[in-house]
Amino acid sequence: MALAYAPSIETTPVRIAPRYDHFIGGAWVPSSGGATFATVNPATEEELAQVAAGTAEDVGRAVAAAREAYEKHWRPMRPADRAKYVYRIARAITERSRELAVLETMDGGKPIKESRDFDVVQAAAHFFYYAGWSDKLRYALHGAGDPAPVGVVGSIIPWNFPLLMAAWKIAPAIACGNTIVLKPAETTPLTALLLAEICAEADLPPGVVNVVTGDGRTGAALVAHPDVNKIAFTGSTEVGKIIQKTVAGTRKRMTLELGGKAANIVFADAPLDQAVEGVVNGIYFNQGHVCCAGSRLLVQESVHDEVVEKLKARIETLRLGDPLDKNTDIGAINSSAQHAKIAELVESGVAEGAVLHQQSCALPERGWFHRASFFTGVSQSHRIAREEIFGPVLSIMTFRTADEAIEKANNTPYGLSAGVWTDKGAKSMYVAQRLQAGVVWCSTFNQFDPSSPFGGYRESGFGREGGVAGLRPYLTV
Ligand code: ADP
Repeated sequence: MALAYAPSIETTPVRIAPRYDHFIGGAWVPSSGGATFATVNPATEEELAQVAAGTAEDVGRAVAAAREAYEKHWRPMRPADRAKYVYRIARAITERSRELAVLETMDGGKPIKESRDFDVVQAAAHFFYYAGWSDKLRYALHGAGDPAPVGVVGSIIPWNFPLLMAAWKIAPAIACGNTIVLKPAETTPLTALLLAEICAEADLPPGVVNVVTGDGRTGAALVAHPDVNKIAFTGSTEVGKIIQKTVAGTRKRMTLELGGKAANIVFADAPLDQAVEGVVNGIYFNQGHVCCAGSRLLVQESVHDEVVEKLKARIETLRLGDPLDKNTDIGAINSSAQHAKIAELVESGVAEGAVLHQQSCALPERGWFHRASFFTGVSQSHRIAREEIFGPVLSIMTFRTADEAIEKANNTPYGLSAGVWTDKGAKSMYVAQRLQAGVVWCSTFNQFDPSSPFGGYRESGFGREGGVAGLRPYLTV
């Protein structure tokens, strides 16, 4: 049963140039080899622009510009003056929020209501929050006196929250007095480039923020560059391991925010309608392209059937389609490669004997889309219970006691996030304290605030972003 509704398309025009260069030393610089690659709208499969393909030489120029800006301008500047620039960037993000949201949705495929109400809002909030820290850093590390910046930061970010991840990296780095070279993901470079334009308009001294576009090879060149003092990476566990090997034995600092396979635990005493909303938000937000997505639902046996029935009804009401439609809940899958990866894992679930449930709506004729899906009859050994799908696909398992739920939730190489739904405060504390996850949400899911630290255990990485803890990787005593 597909619901009929009138579309409400976001029409704010955005200017997209046919070609984008790197942003190095405050200027737009083409790739040294002249090579470019296409960035595509995943909802239409149409090319949006050609973007410079960064070479090792380009990375070298960007790092040199960052070093010069660090030594000459940024480190010597009074912290209160640095803060003014960071505030200015924050305000410019809010002023250009519509444009940023539309561009984010066109380049990445996420629903406009999410880019508008979440990504852009959170990105501005991160700059506001860290701007406030710039001249208070002596209070950030207790008893350690005045900390110093670490130098030039190399940041590599993924395609699921392109603008927000750029903000998570740039805001604390520059607020602490570092300069940065940012490498956005190859499928979603456009909002990072617009952010670079915003930095230029905010009169940020040239070279404090540099953006070099390209694929994994560009990222690898940045990681290997000898004059980078710190690497901050968000992406897959697989690439995180490669980066760790490159950095091992050097004096570079490193923080890694990697994959996840979070458990969302629903007890029988939870308000089930609210819990189902939390489950839906946990797995279908941003098409499940979320490292902390609640991709394993652990539901107490006695309410399994009721929860499954509610979930079946709820996914029929999710609107899948044009990401620029303000009513859309499920947008496009970011790339054909990711689409194929999700499909392969879904096939493995069926082949291993789990039962697939999907919303019944029609898919748009063009673009990469995947229906909101969940599996019942999943066992812990199934690939869909162990591997990160990074798509709108939930695996449901059951438990009887709190200790069994804890054991199953922790039975993963990851440890980024988890959720607990129960009416009993003591029970949620008991469970939360025993979950090996960087963030545990109780009776909610996917809530973020710049003052709250975020990060993982085990194969989900190390180091924290956000809050006071998020300053530490960017400071030295
Ligand atoms: P995802 O699975 O989310 O695509 P990846 O880890 O493949 O995550 O990509 C995250 C970021 O890491 C992207 O910006 C990508 O270009 C970059 N990247 C990929 N391979 C490497 C590598 N070997 N070294 C450094 N960066 C890389």
